[in-house]
Amino acid sequence: MSEQTRAQARRVVVVGAGMAGVQTAVALREQGFTGTVTLIGAEPHQPYDRPPLSKAVLLGKAEDSAFDVDFEALGIDLHLGREVTGVRVGDHELDTEAGPVPYDVLVLATGAEPVTLPGAEGVPGVHLLRTLDDAERLRPVLARQHDIVVVGAGWIGAEFATAAREAGCAVTVVEAADRPLAGALPAEVAAPMAGWYADSGAVLRTHARVERVEPGAVVLDDGSRVPADAVVVGIGARPATRWLTGSGIRLGAHGEVVADDHLRTSAPDVYAVGDCASFPSGRYGERLMVHHWDNALQGPRTVAANIVDETPAVYDPVPYFWSEQFGRFVQYAGHHTSADATVRRGDPAGPAWSVCWLREGRLVALLAVGRPRDMAQGRRLIEAGTVLDPVLLGDPARPLKAAMA
Ligand SMILES: Cc1cc2nc3c(=O)[nH]c(=O)nc-3n(C[C@H](O)[C@H](O)[C@H](O)COP(=O)(O)OP(=O)(O)OC[C@H]3O[C@@H](n4cnc5c(N)ncnc54)[C@H](O)[C@@H]3O)c2cc1C
Repeated sequence: MSEQTRAQARRVVVVGAGMAGVQTAVALREQGFTGTVTLIGAEPHQPYDRPPLSKAVLLGKAEDSAFDVDFEALGIDLHLGREVTGVRVGDHELDTEAGPVPYDVLVLATGAEPVTLPGAEGVPGVHLLRTLDDAERLRPVLARQHDIVVVGAGWIGAEFATAAREAGCAVTVVEAADRPLAGALPAEVAAPMAGWYADSGAVLRTHARVERVEPGAVVLDDGSRVPADAVVVGIGARPATRWLTGSGIRLGAHGEVVADDHLRTSAPDVYAVGDCASFPSGRYGERLMVHHWDNALQGPRTVAANIVDETPAVYDPVPYFWSEQFGRFVQYAGHHTSADATVRRGDPAGPAWSVCWLREGRLVALLAVGRPRDMAQGRRLIEAGTVLDPVLLGDPARPLKAAMA
């Protein structure tokens, strides 16, 4: 058998049948891999996309969001409703509820699971929003036009509050920080977003911590009681990697699989991709853990290339995501923590504006609210590391690319 034939005869097993797992399996076939591809997912449903869960699926405008992938035609061996419980890296073998599964190459794509509110786990009327089952449980809650308390003014909290207001529910969002998106954006950038809640008819209470959930109410740490027929908790997600504890595969401080710049883990023949992993960004000089859809699309192409090809492919993306909230299309690209200058384009009180972050004159990150052309051009300029003139950049009437110095 030639080296190449041997390489193609390998068995690749992908754990997690979400976006990253499905895309890895598909990318392997697209890139010509002819060996066995097995995709194992814990959820019973046909693999599906998550962003519509807080949008069209929640509002009943779409029944589901199953991926349009013909697994059988692609020769992908799909096992659903099957949880992987452990891995023995020395034996190249997984343990599942239905017995052991051997692999030559393993791809970890188990995503993330929502952080729960202490003391509120399993309490009737308290919901999370991560899975299709969660969205299906929440649909009738919206339809009943209940009083809803959303815990957390992050991306999920904002999108859920948007849908709940659209459905006619009374919505109070309680947030422990002083503003929405405190973990994602600097104060001066996120400040105008607080007004979006009020515009939509939702009440945003900042500096508000949940003390406990009682039947019919959420009690805050200042003693106030907020009526709640239902509570939706959106306080973040953590990598779904508990099953890897003790496996020898290195996990980071947030429980994420620590991957290298080829998305390889610390164990031989094991890769990690999507929400469950972090990787060192050469572009930004720090390790990134990205919990967004585009990362679960791009990362798998690198993993597949590294499995198929002898020449290692490096993963160094410009991270990108979008959010649809309060009638606005919000997009973000790049990573702003190392920026040394911020330039605004347009009035943040208005419907459309952008914020550009520069480092040594180069665009490193961009937030665009209702300005998708800024984003289309900005992503390319970040990718290319083009030097921009901050004065020209600050003029929202000019195309962003016209600010090239
Ligand atoms: C409601 C919602 C809305 C979103 N909206 C946006 C958006 O507008 N824009 C954006 O950029 N991003 C959005 N995201 C984020 C985006 O959906 C995620 O980044 C993406 O789904 C990550 O894909 P993944 O495959 O890494 O993880 P996941 O989608 O979490 O998939 C992982 C899968 O692995 C399975 N699994 C876990 N452990 C095991 C195990 N031990 N054995 C077998 N299977 C296992 C899980 O059941 C799951 O099905 C949203 C996320 C949610 C929840």
